[in-house]
Amino acid sequence: MTSQSSIEIVSCNEKVRNYILMLCGWLADHMENVMIHGISSNRCHICIAPPDQFGELSNASYATRPYPIYAATFHHSDIHILNSHGVKNINNAL
Ligand SMILES: [Zn+2]
Repeated sequence: MTSQSSIEIVSCNEKVRNYILMLCGWLADHMENVMIHGISSNRCHICIAPPDQFGELSNASYATRPYPIYAATFHHSDIHILNSHGVKNINNAL
């Protein structure tokens, strides 16, 4: 399959349509990720590593950020939990 070839897929209204599949991505720098994810600038947007561990070589691994939980916490307006994780109390796209 090339990028210009299409495949037939049955859509939700049961009509068969031709689709051209496209793969895309976007690279963002740290400050863009901070804005997109609504986190403090001194936090990692991927994991919950404490800021004082940045730049240190260690074998420690940290859990990934639970963004769905942050969204639920935002809707319950629990600002203290968000702040303790370095998350801003703003509603964003993610
Ligand atoms: Zn990290």
